Amino acid sequence: MTIAIIGAGIAGAACAHELVRLGKQVVVFDKGRAAGGRMSSKRTATGYLDLGAQYFTARSQVFNQQCQQWLADNVIARWHGETARYDQGRLIASPDNTVRYIGVPSMQAPVQRLLAGIELQSNCRIDSIRFDGVNWQLYSGDTQLGSFQQLILALPQQQAAQLLAPCSAQLSLLAALFSQPALLPCWAVDLELTQAAALAFSAIFVKDDPTLSWLARQSTKPGRAAGEHWLVHFNAAFSAQHLEAQPEQIAPLAAAELQRILGRAIAVKASVCHRWRYAQQAEDVAVTGFVYQPEAALGLCGDWLNGGRVENAFLSGRQLAAAVAV
Ligand code: FAD
Ligand code: NAD
Repeated sequence: MTIAIIGAGIAGAACAHELVRLGKQVVVFDKGRAAGGRMSSKRTATGYLDLGAQYFTARSQVFNQQCQQWLADNVIARWHGETARYDQGRLIASPDNTVRYIGVPSMQAPVQRLLAGIELQSNCRIDSIRFDGVNWQLYSGDTQLGSFQQLILALPQQQAAQLLAPCSAQLSLLAALFSQPALLPCWAVDLELTQAAALAFSAIFVKDDPTLSWLARQSTKPGRAAGEHWLVHFNAAFSAQHLEAQPEQIAPLAAAELQRILGRAIAVKASVCHRWRYAQQAEDVAVTGFVYQPEAALGLCGDWLNGGRVENAFLSGRQLAAAVAV
């Protein structure tokens, strides 16, 4: 039996890895150039820039064990960033004991490690799927990519809903899952400054702000681009309002916001903007872990089913694999 997994983010990779460990045959498809999904860093001449996931924490025993293995394999490292918070107009130190990990040299490294030795068809967008009552057929444009006895969608909610829409009559039980948007957008901007900002902090949690949620000094992470790079994440409300804006409009706003939070003038040498349409979990989304419908030979996993965050996406994929392999 060959299982098709659409989506090579951390959820799809964890699912594929566990299925193979349990003796199953798996093919993974992803529209991206490489595996990673929202755990992706942009390559530059001097190192990587993290525009998506910034770091991850491990609260569960299962994910903790996985992180220890990745540490031993040098695909992740600890990020010892000095944390601060910007709250009610004040930037203040906010130290904590949280252990934060990043992929090295890029965020996708642990995802790629999970997929080592597993068939991955990258640059392969699945445009449509069909279920004939027994098997699933996958299509990229008009090209049929094969027939599979099980299908796993390891995709953001809205992208899974789009693919499943033509099958909605067969899969009416899924309708409730797609009734409200689970993932909200995020504009991410990397600003390269001409001069180092004289500041002790490398990570700033921006609280209850009309525009921002997070700032990070990328050069404090191992393996990242040289120079003074600050990453700006706009919050979901701002990002939704400016969803169709152009990068040329967003970059100067990010620079003005960084200046506001740092409380000093900055000069920007270069910027990189990325719009994540489906980024962060909406607040009131039900957490089911994963979805498996054996009668439809269909499974769904991903962060949006398990409370957002890298760890939860990993656990969602891992748990779905265990259910499918029974
Ligand atoms: P994804 O990573 O989105 O994987 C889905 C994959 O499906 C993608 O690779 C995509 O290319 C592929 N795909 C989609 N449609 C198709 C199709 N039709 N055909 C083929 N392939 C397709 N989490 C943290 O824990 N810490 C953080 O600091 C953090 N910061 C974040 C900041 C940002 C800006 C964003 C966007 C996310 C952040 N997250 C963070 C969340 C974290 O990145 C996600 O929870 C996690 O990476 C989701 O993994 P996933 O496998 O569920 O989905
Ligand atoms: P975590 O435990 O470090 O942070 C969880 C939350 O606790 C933070 O969002 C922040 O509000 C608060 N916090 C943590 N340390 C703090 C400190 N020193 N000072 C002030 N506040 C602090 O990490 P986690 O639970 O693994 O969450 C991952 C991070 O990913 C979160 O910051 C989350 O907001 C972020 N995220 C962002 C997006 C996006 O699209 N921008 C999407 C998913 C997750």
